[in-house]
Amino acid sequence: MKKLAIIGSTGSIGTQALSVAAEFSEEIEIIGLSTNKNIDLLEEQIKSFHPKAVCVMDPDAASILDKRLAGKKVEVLTGIDGLIAVSTLAGCDLLLTAVSGMIGLKPTLAAISEGINIALANKETLVAAGQLVMEAARQKDVAILPVDSEHSAIFQCLRGNQKEAIKRVIITASGGPFRTWSAEELKHVSLDQALKHPNWSMGAKITIDSASMMNKGLEVIEAKWLFGLRLDQIDVIVHPQSIIHSMIEYVDHSTIAQMGMPDMALPIQYAFFYPERVANSRDPLDFTKASTLTFEKPDMVRFPCLRLAFDALKLGGSMSCVLNAANEIAVARFLNKEIGFTDIPRINKTVMNQHQLIGDPGLSDILAADSWARDVARHL
Ligand code: NDP
Ligand code: MG
Repeated sequence: MKKLAIIGSTGSIGTQALSVAAEFSEEIEIIGLSTNKNIDLLEEQIKSFHPKAVCVMDPDAASILDKRLAGKKVEVLTGIDGLIAVSTLAGCDLLLTAVSGMIGLKPTLAAISEGINIALANKETLVAAGQLVMEAARQKDVAILPVDSEHSAIFQCLRGNQKEAIKRVIITASGGPFRTWSAEELKHVSLDQALKHPNWSMGAKITIDSASMMNKGLEVIEAKWLFGLRLDQIDVIVHPQSIIHSMIEYVDHSTIAQMGMPDMALPIQYAFFYPERVANSRDPLDFTKASTLTFEKPDMVRFPCLRLAFDALKLGGSMSCVLNAANEIAVARFLNKEIGFTDIPRINKTVMNQHQLIGDPGLSDILAADSWARDVARHL
């Protein structure tokens, strides 16, 4: 039995991960779960999966749930200490980090220091502190198993090949709902339009990131750290059908692609069972129905967030962390209808321009840069 904890279990990835765990209940035992505030769903999850401990980030919601569960065996924790405790439960084999945003950093580092393998969905953690996280994982011999579909694809395309033989990785992007919109039309995007992704059903923050192509930028940074790539080894291509999840071109100009239905349960399952492949009940890819696969160059003028991610990587140090923090604030404000869609890249760029780069940041530098960037972004 593999003992699994999930932080962010009430979200899009969290609930899909639990559906995978339910399908494989003979192989996977859930020992920890967490939510920000959604205690109704967490309570249902507790009844179905019987974890030892849960964390409700919000203290008021936590005490309501604690009362509801009086007499039950599950421990209810709260706050960042609670999130860290759920991420480092004794006997845990694998932690799925499925919270949204850089809040995942401390729990991920804590789990790594306990030698717990990580199934990583929470890309903001690697964007903010990729070098720190990968170095900590290397020191503890902990596996960081990608859940993001593109990175799972690259991970799968790497099997049986040498990393040294990679010429470049080609990260595919759906292009989001505004792929064909003009720069002028993008100024008038509404929240409802931005929340309608053509191929994937996801949490609100990543859905907006996909519409602005910030998500692809974050994934470029995520790929750099996960696979130890140079910047010139990472390319992005728009592939609107989301059937090829990413590819590796090797030095002999053979390209290996990973394909499948756009269903996050597949990369989640791959991370849970790696290195095994296990039969499941999901829909297979029918090539007669997905017979057209098309590709386009990304447009970094209409979608400047993608360009900003490449710029942040080029600048290095604390810049990716600052970009991520500014973007978290900007997206939250857009979701609150306080700013327009094109204000997101404007804020991100301005915060980056104002940042005094820290060359080789430690954890305290990262946390300080994150908090500085959030303040500046809020002000903007
Ligand atoms: P959701 O918004 O659907 O879920 C986020 C989860 O984290 C929820 O359980 C939420 O609780 C919890 N949470 C949010 N904020 C906090 C906080 N401050 N403290 C503690 N818990 C918090 O996000 P997704 O599932 O879509 O995405 C999760 C991560 O996975 C992101 O990093 C995203 O980029 C990545 N990812 C997602 C994909 C997808 O298909 N959804 C694909 C690839 C990567 P509550 O329910 O109370 O809000
Ligand atoms: Mg992705």
